[in-house]
Amino acid sequence: EVISGYRGRFAPSPSGNLHFGSLVTALASYLLARQADGQWLLRIDDIDTPRVQSGAADAILTTLEAHSLLWDEAVYYQSLQSDRYEHHLRLLQQRQQCYFCDCTRQAIKARAPQYDGFCRSRHLSGQDCAVRLRNPGQSLVLKDTLLGDIRPPEAIVNEDFVLRRRDGIWGYHLVAVLDDLNQGITQVVRGADLLLPSACQLVLYELLGENPPSFLHVPLAVSAPGKKLSKQNHSPQLKNSQASDNLMQALEYLGLKVPLQLHGAACSELLKWAVAHWHVGNLGKASEKKVAAHWC
Ligand code: GLU
Repeated sequence: EVISGYRGRFAPSPSGNLHFGSLVTALASYLLARQADGQWLLRIDDIDTPRVQSGAADAILTTLEAHSLLWDEAVYYQSLQSDRYEHHLRLLQQRQQCYFCDCTRQAIKARAPQYDGFCRSRHLSGQDCAVRLRNPGQSLVLKDTLLGDIRPPEAIVNEDFVLRRRDGIWGYHLVAVLDDLNQGITQVVRGADLLLPSACQLVLYELLGENPPSFLHVPLAVSAPGKKLSKQNHSPQLKNSQASDNLMQALEYLGLKVPLQLHGAACSELLKWAVAHWHVGNLGKASEKKVAAHWC
């Protein structure tokens, strides 16, 4: 089957149910996909098993449905992709584009803020080791739909980042890239906290000889000045009984003022209106500052 046309996705981690910040990201990604008459896919990032909370993936699906954010195709679970990840890691190994590393976190920190390539030429056999990318260290430009060309800090994107952890858990950069390629994603919409990860992922697209998707980084919703809303710092989970209100607030966060006659309308109505009215430019100048703050 040939995959073509616009394909977007929302890729939550099931470490808890969705909070307001993830709704904002989901909504932006949904609106762009529907405006492009494209597909909007749902990927569950359940690879980091220690952080996966049982029941959270199902709760996320229910919450999206409650907000009428209905996805296309079958839900894609990272936890079911290990064979594919293995296969691609083997290819990278055959091409000597990665290597084993047994450095402890403390040892790495003691030497430099970023990993210094200590194990590059040690030819370890793989026992109790992480696998790291042999990063060719180019200077890359990240193209963001809202912010334009961004030159990420080289020390970070040139790092030999981890492809598979010592405990066997897959590195996020590798799996995100492999899955976005596998699903034929043309537009990645994600939170601005993932700006640097996006830049690191560009390195992988380049190495794999693939074109990267377009990126849009949505400014993070904050609960109080400087405080990021996330599952980690226990921001409140969305109440499905207030779905219409939640959506309205998320639309306002995206820079769209919902007209009075639509207050309290069904989610599907709000979404229909938003598809017709929202534009990336609504995210506005103020958000650029918020995004830029994430470089530091
Ligand atoms: N699952 C991750 C998150 O929720 C990554 C999403 C992505 O790759 O865009 O932050």
